[in-house]
Amino acid sequence: GAERTKTILILMSDTGGGHRASAESIRDAFKIEYGEEYRIIVKDVGKEYAGWPLNDMENQYKFMVKHVQLWAVAFHGTSPRWIHNLYLAALAAYYAKGIEAGLMEYKPDIIISVHPLMQHIPLWVLKWQGLQKKVVFVTVITDLNTCHRTWFHQGVNRLYCPSEEVAKRALQDGLEESQTRVFGLPIRPSFCRAVLVKNDLRVELEMDLELPAVLLMGGGEGMGPVQKTALALGESLFDKELGKPIGQLVVICGRNEGLATTLKSHEWKIPVRVRGFEKQMEKWMGACDCIITKAGPGTIAEALIRGLPIILNDYIPGQEKGNVPFVVDNGAGIFMRSSRQTARIVAEWFSTKTDELKRMSENAIKLSQPNAVFDIVKDIHDLACERGPLANIPYELISSFSSFMS
Ligand code: UDP
Repeated sequence: GAERTKTILILMSDTGGGHRASAESIRDAFKIEYGEEYRIIVKDVGKEYAGWPLNDMENQYKFMVKHVQLWAVAFHGTSPRWIHNLYLAALAAYYAKGIEAGLMEYKPDIIISVHPLMQHIPLWVLKWQGLQKKVVFVTVITDLNTCHRTWFHQGVNRLYCPSEEVAKRALQDGLEESQTRVFGLPIRPSFCRAVLVKNDLRVELEMDLELPAVLLMGGGEGMGPVQKTALALGESLFDKELGKPIGQLVVICGRNEGLATTLKSHEWKIPVRVRGFEKQMEKWMGACDCIITKAGPGTIAEALIRGLPIILNDYIPGQEKGNVPFVVDNGAGIFMRSSRQTARIVAEWFSTKTDELKRMSENAIKLSQPNAVFDIVKDIHDLACERGPLANIPYELISSFSSFMS
């Protein structure tokens, strides 16, 4: 029949690369599965609607990760419920108005939040406006294991958890089992569905065709000990006795331009590709044999799909810490802070310990959940269908909340 196009509003904030990647993967999967049935709007709420400090969240995040201790304090400091309720109450006055404006502008049938701070206020506004029963509101958690309690809100129609561990904590925090689903982290469809041949990729990416390759990165911002590790690999992957390389290196610096410039000007004894922000990560991962990265959930989930053994060399305290045991305990990688040791391990994987590399690669594939994003969008679609025809949501009624607040 001639069904009305439904509108989906995805609320995200561009901190790091992860939230945007998740938002875009959900959007792309909806397009693949349902085409014109849905109109999808991805909104960086922090930037557009909120007043201070959320509109500066991206800059604050960059500042905070540079001052890791501060980030650790903020993460844990806002954890007890009474603190974050107070904090949220204060923030609400700033945001409610902006969120309302967003709802009025787009009149969404479905709201998807992929950000820990984007539950309370939108849900509060919906409730205030009597729209709670009409608009489907779901949250997709984008932290693999340890995640901040602000993600858990009992008012959601669905909470998509990337792992059983997260689902367990959601239940402890008062969510019903019927509200939660565990499908995995949503990864861009280009990752899950691509059939990639390593040799073809290496030709396309101008890499050596024979030498095993290690991919080195540090999230969207190119964080962690990337430079030190690259230099150490430049030494460890060169066999001094034979006078030739035993491996090659790809460094993806993300938005860290300074890092890219420095590494490009270095004289290497092994084949090295230094790249900035790459749009086709699935190709670089598909062309390599293992990966070194900070414990970013997006990068980890993608590497698992490509069957890359992972060396985690860093994590952002708080939300990324739990990603380490997720990888290590499942035999898909190791945690190693020292750049020298990391470089030595990769050299072993490429020479005497190829069996270990192979075993970890198999474990990685076992742990991967390439269909997660499709399971999520199908479930959201089913939820929306259960609601029946979503037409005529009375958005016109929205008015009084802002005036009440001010
Ligand atoms: N990414 C990318 N191009 C780059 C660097 C990173 O597309 O040059 C993507 C990467 O594939 C992953 C995301 O950015 O999907 C990084 O997310 P993650 O959770 O690992 O770390 P964050 O950057 O959010 O701290």
